[in-house]
Order: sequence, then structure tokens, then C-alpha cells
Amino acid sequence: MKPSIPAFQYKISLGQNFLFDQDLLNRLVDQTQVGEADIVLEIGAGRGDLTQVLAERCKQVVAVEIDERLEPVLKERFESAPNALIVMGDIMGLDISQQMGEYEGFHVIANLPYYLTTPILTMLFHLNLPIKSVNVMVQQEAAQRVLAQPGTPEYGPLAVLAAFRGSPKSTVVVPAHMFTPPPKVDSVFLVVPFYEKPPVQVDNEDLFFKVIRAAFFMRRKTLANNLVSAFGMPREEATRLILACGLNERVRGERLTILDFARLSNETNRVIMK
Ligand code: SAM
Repeated sequence: MKPSIPAFQYKISLGQNFLFDQDLLNRLVDQTQVGEADIVLEIGAGRGDLTQVLAERCKQVVAVEIDERLEPVLKERFESAPNALIVMGDIMGLDISQQMGEYEGFHVIANLPYYLTTPILTMLFHLNLPIKSVNVMVQQEAAQRVLAQPGTPEYGPLAVLAAFRGSPKSTVVVPAHMFTPPPKVDSVFLVVPFYEKPPVQVDNEDLFFKVIRAAFFMRRKTLANNLVSAFGMPREEATRLILACGLNERVRGERLTILDFARLSNETNRVIMK
């Protein structure tokens, strides 16, 4: 039987779909391959069941939770666990580099609040921090967007960013009924081990990210049109950049591979730096 917190009203607006099954939680942590030498940032501690497994198996877990009602539960549960640090706050407003700055590298593990899946993953893939892997429970539709290949409807910035940082794969499929309360659809535990060095040479990362956002800004527009709008560059310049990368001048952003994006942003950088 699933344990529950007495009189706790789950807030759907905070994505509160908790996991209590110990076997499942251990199976999820198995997928991440973290061990006793590892530091983990957990996003959304909830009642602390995943936090507990992580504290038992890792060197240190820093668990962030926004819901102040859970603070006494978490503080009491982990007051005698020296390797579990509870941080109350909003992950989107937290200075992660300050919070995790003392560690040479860390893993992110979370049963994500689903309303923040895209913002949280986008933030983690942008950060220039020593992240070793990102391992997250997400809804199936979000997993498809992370794993998507060029030319498919699901392909977008999230897939390009994920492929830039690591090699995403889907592991355990978790049926909705395993959560309390159950979400509308089944979920997938995604693991993304990060590369030590990105798989493509990018001269200016900020510009690379901007080119990716621009390419998908208006999906039905051509890449050239989107570059003109995003960078305010003359159309001939946008066409010249696209042709210089060996692409068709009428191509749409959704056709570009990560290598195409790297080439295009490096070419754009050269133009801007002139
Ligand atoms: N880790 C717990 C588990 O697996 O049972 C809870 C996971 S639940 C899907 C997501 C958790 O994220 C909730 O506890 C929710 O309150 C918390 N949360 C929602 N928005 C957040 C935010 N912006 N920053 C930090 N935590 C947040």
C-alpha cells in the first residue's frame, strides 16, 4: 500500500506526482549509474523518498523543493543525514553555480514537476557547469521531444541542445498509476550522460544557442526568413550563410542536424566578428 502524508493536499499546479515505490526508485537510480563517490542535485524533493535513496547511495545530495509545506517533513526526515542538504526555493530562480560551485562535478536526478520540464531541461543544457549527467522522469511526449531526430515533427531546440550536451536515451517506462496522484499519461525515465567535450566544434556557445532558437522560431518559415527576423541581417547575407554551410537556401530549421547548427553558428560568428 502507498504511504501518504496525513492531510496533505497535492498541488497539481506544482506538478506534485510523487513516487513512493522503493523498488521503482532504486531501479531508476540504477539507470543513472551514480555511486558512493557521486554528488547529486535533485530537483523537486517532494516528501523525500527519492532523496532518501540518493542519500543512501551517493556521497552528497542537494535537494531543492519549492513547496514550504514540505519543509518540516524534509527537515525532520533528513536532520540526521549529514549528506542530504535540503534547499527550499524555486529551481528556476536558484543560483545553481553558487549552490553546486564547491563540487568538481555533479549529476542531476529528478522526478520533474511536469509543468517545468522544458524550462528546466533548457536551463540545464545551457548551463556551463560541470554536470556529468541529467536523469529525469518526464512525460512521454517530452521524452519524444528530447530524443527526436531531424525532419520529424517533435524535433526542436530541446533535441538539439540534448544532443549537444550528451547522448540521451529512454530507460524505464513508468505507468501513470505508479504516481500519487497519477498524472494523465505514462512517463519515461530519461538519462543523458554528458560528454566531456561537445561532439561538434562551436566557436561561440551563446550564438549557437541563439541560432538554434531562431531556426525554430516560426516553424513554417524558412531558415533564411527566421535568421533575417532574429538577427536583423539582410536576406542576401542569410542566404549566403546558409549556402556556405552546404544547405539548400529554402531549407527549414527542422531539417538541420547538430553539425549543421554548429557550422551555421560558426559562419554567423565570423560575419558578426568582422
Ligand atoms: N521527488 C518527489 C518524488 O519523486 O516523489 C517529488 C516529485 S514531484 C513530480 C515534483 C516536485 O517538484 C514537487 O514536490 C513540487 O513541489 C516540486 N517543485 C515544483 N516546482 C518547483 C520549482 N520551481 N522548484 C523546485 N521544486 C519544485
